[in-house]
Amino acid sequence: MRSRTAGELRRGAVLALAAVLSGCVPSIDAGREPAPQPPARPEPAPRPAPPPPAPPPSPVRADFALQGIAEQGAAMVGRAPDGTRALTFDGKAIPVAADGRFLIAFDRDAGPEARLVATLADGRAVEHDIAVAPGRWRLEHINAPYRGSARSDAEFQRRRPAELAQIAAARSKQVESDGWRQAFRWPVTGRLSGFFGSQRVYQGKPGSYHSGTDVAVPAGTPFVAPADGVVVLAATSPFTLEGNLLIVDHGMGLSSAFLHCQRLDVKLGDRVVQGQRLGTVGATGRATGPHMHWGLKWRDARLDPGKLAGPVGG
Ligand SMILES: [Zn+2]
Repeated sequence: MRSRTAGELRRGAVLALAAVLSGCVPSIDAGREPAPQPPARPEPAPRPAPPPPAPPPSPVRADFALQGIAEQGAAMVGRAPDGTRALTFDGKAIPVAADGRFLIAFDRDAGPEARLVATLADGRAVEHDIAVAPGRWRLEHINAPYRGSARSDAEFQRRRPAELAQIAAARSKQVESDGWRQAFRWPVTGRLSGFFGSQRVYQGKPGSYHSGTDVAVPAGTPFVAPADGVVVLAATSPFTLEGNLLIVDHGMGLSSAFLHCQRLDVKLGDRVVQGQRLGTVGATGRATGPHMHWGLKWRDARLDPGKLAGPVGG
């Protein structure tokens, strides 16, 4: 069966409507002799149907859309302008997902301004400057030796390079995961015992700032994945500082590190989903008591987990 064109359908509807009107309107000539009918005029030749109207053009996004907090230690998910072929953040190339979304984040010590530049297919550049608010950091005194679980400074110096190499190798892996798009949740909830970004002093010896957030919970408490990801490091023996260390990559260069674990329930290469149990909390490595240290990194930038996951327990 041939389907009718829109023009044919429209004409059919008009004729049907005319028939209904003529049938229900009483004639004022009722009862009189019918007046002579004028000769029927020939049907006008059907005009060709007008072309269907063109759909309205879809709006073109000429600028960036950004969600999140522009603050030291925080991350933002953005959408690039339509037609973006390449994107840089402070001069460095940033990957853009097929739907135009991308991730940027600000290191604990990020400067007050950051710049996004999209290069469009026609060669034009779209620039977007971001004012980065400063974070507020504390000073924390830790009653633990700087060298962590190493028995001497010499042992620490001997063991540390290989540990750092393992961590660097894990972080350099490129994994496919959409975890970065998710709203992050806390791996475990409890009393916060250490804050991201604090300047730390270990038994009088100044160390680097605290690279994560500590949640104090009893040893053996299970912890879960804050977002989907892939296990890129699962320590088979405790590191001097991190103890039993687990690193999960969430894609786009964003990764979580879980330190001082008592036990790990996942292994290298495992794909994990948000909320999945990863292991149990412990006090391995440089720790004064059982706690979960959750660290977040985007490329070289260290981030504040609380700025991605919100208030603990909230
Ligand atoms: Zn910590």
